[in-house]
Amino acid sequence: MNYYSAPVARLIEEFEKLPGIGHKTAQRLAFHVLNMPMEKAQGLSGAIIDAKIKTKYCSVCNNLTDVDPCGICSGPNRDNTTICVVENPRDVVAMEKTREFQGVYHVLHGAISPMDGVGPEDIKIKELLGRIGQGSIKEVILATNPNIEGEATAMYISKLLKPLGIKTSRIAHGLPVGGDLEYADEVTLAKALEGRREL
Ligand SMILES: [Zn+2]
Repeated sequence: MNYYSAPVARLIEEFEKLPGIGHKTAQRLAFHVLNMPMEKAQGLSGAIIDAKIKTKYCSVCNNLTDVDPCGICSGPNRDNTTICVVENPRDVVAMEKTREFQGVYHVLHGAISPMDGVGPEDIKIKELLGRIGQGSIKEVILATNPNIEGEATAMYISKLLKPLGIKTSRIAHGLPVGGDLEYADEVTLAKALEGRREL
């Protein structure tokens, strides 16, 4: 039997769909929202809708942005000849926090994973080749995650780039194997970038 009114049950259900949120936490969040002043609750729901409406993918690097091209791609002090390839927008944030990287990014939106049915054509590799085909790229840094999928993706891309004569490097493994880039601390990530090796 359901102990909650239909609207509250629905709110709990929606919270429960979020990553890392179990039933107990969903209940706690729902009651937190119910106890909020109305304008705070409207602020929260407004922020969700606003972010959804105003956020799109950069037509150059596929990062999330509210302006196209994104602030990094159009940044006057960025080195447009060096591309750092990452799996998702959260990795861009992690790299930016290191303040070590002055180049631009390419967000793949995933990694090759035959087990999950994700092939090279399912992530933004074609778009990366398109950028390189324009001729001004000198170096590609492969900063996919240090796990099986990330390694497979880095290998796949490096094989495609080799015949093109593009300098291709892989970030070093100060990073924990099997880990996620976005959870690495800034110093580790900066070191990994500094210690990248040519492929
Ligand atoms: Zn961009």
